Amino acid sequence: MKNLIVANWKMNPGNQKEAKILFEAIKKGIKNVKTEVVICPPFVYLSLLKGLTLGAQNCSWEEKGAFTGEISALQVRDLKVEYVIIGHSERRNYFNETDIQINKKVKKALSAKLKIILCIGESKEEWESGKKVEVLERQITEGLKGINVKEIRNIIIAYEPVFAIGTGDNCSIDETMSSILFIRKVICKLYNRVVSDNIRVLYGGSVKSDNSALYIKNTGANGLLVGGASLNAEEFIKIVKSVA
Ligand code: PEP
Repeated sequence: MKNLIVANWKMNPGNQKEAKILFEAIKKGIKNVKTEVVICPPFVYLSLLKGLTLGAQNCSWEEKGAFTGEISALQVRDLKVEYVIIGHSERRNYFNETDIQINKKVKKALSAKLKIILCIGESKEEWESGKKVEVLERQITEGLKGINVKEIRNIIIAYEPVFAIGTGDNCSIDETMSSILFIRKVICKLYNRVVSDNIRVLYGGSVKSDNSALYIKNTGANGLLVGGASLNAEEFIKIVKSVA
């Protein structure tokens, strides 16, 4: 399985010019690299950026109509976007997204033929109180409710412990490995062994070029979801090359 490196630009950079400069620098830097790379800029830049695989950072669970401010999975797909991040912890925490809403978004995105990067991960409090596995199992089971064995092929799970996102406090290699094993166990229970062996599981949380290769070599992750470090072209290119 090829590694997948996903850049989550979040609500950055601040204008079209900077977005194009960053994108073109990344494109140039990874020209001869075989690793699969997906860039997820804010919606407003999706139609400006060409030449690398694109992902959106969110989509609506509704198809169309009177939903002011929302953007549908079909509208995203119409821009030749291939992926969408669903259930990022920033959406769960700041915009109160629930597992039920996330499941509705997953279904809509699948019907629009988007590939989904489903984010899951425990908070610091949940980790400290020994609830990690319970939280991960709930997020997977609820998020994938009603998704069949065929559809699951278009879903990637991103394990992102909340305390590790944007903090520099990345999750230890051992802890990440045990979480990824647990995620595969839950997928095996919900589907079967073939699905759990083949589903891509990414790690995300303060990945930088000095730790990226370790996550790929030692945790069973099939790729990385990179936030902050993806806004620096040189650093992001190093990350992509480090796992090639
Ligand atoms: C993320 O936004 O998914 C993320 C992992 O961010 P960072 O790399 O900045 O921790």
